[in-house]
Amino acid sequence: MTQEKRIVLITGASRGIGRAIAIALAHQDHHVIVNYRSQKEAADEVVAQITSKGLSASSLGFDVADNKQVEAAMETITREFGGVDVLVNNAGIPLDGLLLRYKDEDFDQSINVNLKGAYLCSKAALKSMMKRKKDGRIVMMSSVVGQMGNAGQTVYAATKAGLIGFAKSLAREVASRQITVNVIAPGFVETEMTGALTDAQKEAMLNMIPLKRYASPSEIASVVAFLVSKDSGYITGQTIAVNGGMYL
Ligand code: NAP
Repeated sequence: MTQEKRIVLITGASRGIGRAIAIALAHQDHHVIVNYRSQKEAADEVVAQITSKGLSASSLGFDVADNKQVEAAMETITREFGGVDVLVNNAGIPLDGLLLRYKDEDFDQSINVNLKGAYLCSKAALKSMMKRKKDGRIVMMSSVVGQMGNAGQTVYAATKAGLIGFAKSLAREVASRQITVNVIAPGFVETEMTGALTDAQKEAMLNMIPLKRYASPSEIASVVAFLVSKDSGYITGQTIAVNGGMYL
């Protein structure tokens, strides 16, 4: 392992947007740690794709919502790589449903994965970013739904809007250490998450998007790559919308 490489942890990188981010950041010559919760094979396939190009990656399974697992993961990363320089809080789950019929256990799970996961990982990663002093970066994966709302996604929207307030405050807390904290709010992106929608739902969504198409995961990843690069060092506390003009 070349010590000059920045160490990048991407949560939920076994597929979808996280996978595209892992590939993009590996091409920036970072070492990327591909986190997954259950799909080890998929995460190892992402790693294999990266390392087959002579780039650097490894996989690490842990549940972002579990304090003990996050702590153990950070200990492993510190032991193996010396710590984390960049954290992309990408893991998220959409547990949709109208509020009147929403289950309390789904509320708890949404908050735990989407919001508490980002809280636990940010807290753990910040400690090593402060020690390592290598242009620390935190990027949160919010959603257009957190900005404009969407019927049937009240709780999901609350978690995604929560990430925006979290990032704005944390950006102020760590700015003096030259660590930046920003948010990306994608519109609809072609992944397994959106693949679960019915044709009628997909049609309704396309009608809401001025660019008349979904984003590809790599179109989100390229914005993360910019926010993680040294060129973006003066941008902090911002939410960048990547939504095809859906919400301006
Ligand atoms: P996806 O295809 O469903 O993939 C989700 C990823 O998160 C998987 O790698 C999954 O790992 C991981 N994950 C789920 N729960 C986890 C947990 N507790 N701990 C660790 N990892 C966990 O999702 P996606 O569509 O790429 O979305 C990625 C992010 O973008 C999410 O935060 C989502 O809310 C946001 N987003 C997506 C869209 C969209 O249109 N797709 C739009 C706006 C925002 P395993 O499979 O291994 O369990």
